[in-house]
Amino acid sequence: MITKEEIVEILKGVTHPETGQNIVEGGILQDVEIGMEGVVITLNFRRKRDPFAKSVATRAKMAVDAACDLEVQIISKEGEDAPKPRQHEGVARVKNIIAVASGKGGVGKSTVTANIAVELHKLGYCVGVLDADIYGPSQPKLFGVEDYAPWAEKYEGLDYIIPAESNGIKINSIGFYINPGDALIWRGPMATNALKQLINQTLWGELDFLLIDMPPGTGDVQIAVAENLHLTGALIVSTPQQVAVADVVRGMKMFRTQGVEVPVLGVVENMAFFTPAELPNNRYYIFGRGGARIMAENEDVDFLGEIPLIQSIAENSDNGTPVALGSAEEEKYYAEVCRKIVEKVIKEC
Ligand code: ADP
Repeated sequence: MITKEEIVEILKGVTHPETGQNIVEGGILQDVEIGMEGVVITLNFRRKRDPFAKSVATRAKMAVDAACDLEVQIISKEGEDAPKPRQHEGVARVKNIIAVASGKGGVGKSTVTANIAVELHKLGYCVGVLDADIYGPSQPKLFGVEDYAPWAEKYEGLDYIIPAESNGIKINSIGFYINPGDALIWRGPMATNALKQLINQTLWGELDFLLIDMPPGTGDVQIAVAENLHLTGALIVSTPQQVAVADVVRGMKMFRTQGVEVPVLGVVENMAFFTPAELPNNRYYIFGRGGARIMAENEDVDFLGEIPLIQSIAENSDNGTPVALGSAEEEKYYAEVCRKIVEKVIKEC
């Protein structure tokens, strides 16, 4: 006779089309009971009116039917829409929180975050940046505040961290608290707890936009950050290269996972092409052409623009003066992406 464990194993072959996760690991399978009457499988879709509930239930029944002679009954439950987590005082007066994410490290996510923050500030918004990239915190360097020693202040009886400030932008970074290299040995829960503290215990005050420079990838740490904040949306950064693009698709799926459900504002293609200073009309597509734009179309998300690979962008980052602070030609690429983000947030979020 078939066992409960064998049925669970079979159900691991049934995936939810939206999240791509199997129903066991995705937490949809709630219970399996084997009795005299047959098998009763309870699925809990956790949110109301899951459009895939019926097809998932049918496929689960078919899979178990094929493996045993017992009568198989599926009970499908709907949950309430997940309650949004309570906002902690630290971010209580932040109007929009945007996660800047990438599938891979090194695609320019931090550089895009810093320059978009500058552009938002130029438009007159109050802006903060939270550097949650435990694997390579670079906002302190990008904004020239590496030497900042964070301190705490009491607010309504609780201790809060006062963020650094550079060019009118408030910055707090995991980099202020760890030695370079330590993050690599951090286990998931340790990193997650540290980030939760940073999120909730920074005194951001009144902000129009808080940008979160997320760690690359799609692990527990990233999910915890997304779940612990009432995110307005996610901005995805990719290079045009195929391998980076594949990782990004996984990253976007994470934001669409049940329980996380953060709108993807769009995709920015960084290092889209290279133009040497001495040949200003030439474009060299070093990492391939338009890969991120095509991926955005395929995934049905907006393409927010391309940023070329330009030496001054890297140089200014190293100097602690994001290129968007100036008015050089390259600044207009970030300005254009920023304009689209503001438009989307104001219209849709
Ligand atoms: P990530 O946050 O994705 O790890 P970074 O923003 O740290 O990536 O960028 C990785 C490296 O690429 C840095 O040295 C940065 O200065 C450089 N870089 C990023 N974007 C550009 C660009 N558009 N042009 C030139 N260099 C860039």
